Amino acid sequence: MSGAIVVSQLGGPEVLEWVDQDPGTPGPGEVRIRHTAIGLNFIDVYHRTGLYPVELPFTPGSEGAGVVEAVGDDVDDLQVGARVAYTSNGPIGSYCEVRVMPRGRLFELPDEISEETAAAMMLKGCTVEYLVRRTYAVQAGDNVLLTAAAGGVGLIACQWLNALGANVIGTVGSPEKGELAKANGCNHVILYREENISERVAEITDGEGCRVAYDSVGASTFEASLKSLSRRGMLVTFGNASGPVEPISPLVLAKHRSLFLTRPRLGDYYTTPEETADGIRALFDMVLHGKVGPHIGARCSLHDVAAAHRALEARETVGSTVLVPG
Ligand code: NDP
Repeated sequence: MSGAIVVSQLGGPEVLEWVDQDPGTPGPGEVRIRHTAIGLNFIDVYHRTGLYPVELPFTPGSEGAGVVEAVGDDVDDLQVGARVAYTSNGPIGSYCEVRVMPRGRLFELPDEISEETAAAMMLKGCTVEYLVRRTYAVQAGDNVLLTAAAGGVGLIACQWLNALGANVIGTVGSPEKGELAKANGCNHVILYREENISERVAEITDGEGCRVAYDSVGASTFEASLKSLSRRGMLVTFGNASGPVEPISPLVLAKHRSLFLTRPRLGDYYTTPEETADGIRALFDMVLHGKVGPHIGARCSLHDVAAAHRALEARETVGSTVLVPG
């Protein structure tokens, strides 16, 4: 038997319940891994509350890393003892000690990347990879607006955008978060609780505005992000930490000078094994060259995951939170 978190009804953090269960034996094409580190992500909150519907009951969790314990009969390219990690493209369920999953979803880790580092960045880093390289291909000198710049996705995005030579303008909820964002490559911070985002963007960019706005906060920042863009700029609304964005008329995009608007999901950028391998290779390359690396703001026992959810929703976390099984 091994432990897992199960959600049997939607609701607050209290619905995250510990259960003991048999993880099962890997069948053809499957591998059983023992997690050593699990990543916490805002999408886990959306699953728990029902904003993103999942069939009940379910085990949440979209990224993890660990060691291979057993392989199915036909799996000959991964050995017991190999260190592996994965991101969310497929069934969720990383909030557990031991898990059977398809071999195709697992990536063997290079010696230089620890399991903890991988668990802290697989989903967040792959998200940044597709956002800054493929949703809008950021160029050196681009003015870029980034919300939640000191968050899990945010700090990795600051690092990656800085490496691309962008002028990174990040919004943050406190001066401490601002300092952390700057230390990770953010060129300008906007304290949105006391400053007007689009007015500050206009000042920082001499009235030009941003080529692209990466907005993960959603409802409360959507309007400010629109107003912060330059002519024919692109608004990438990729999350809903403050709630989902209300529907808008396309004419709003015309009024703001012919803007582009997209609402991307990782699953639509990591569609095939080749595309996934390319994205993960790009992420690992950035890590191995020292340009990107997750900031682990907190570690928390998997038993205490409800407290970790409360902190994430209360905006108390910075960088990535890692859940420690066992
Ligand atoms: P974060 O670490 O960024 O945590 C959320 C942060 O958002 C908070 O720390 C807070 O920072 C800010 N925030 C602003 N308003 C609110 C609010 N009302 N409630 C809570 N937080 C708020 O989380 P993650 O790094 O895990 O995820 C970031 C975002 O990226 C999420 O919205 C997630 O859904 C999205 N995402 C999207 C993907 C996609 O493919 N579309 C894939 C992966 C993630 P501050 O105090 O500075 O305001």
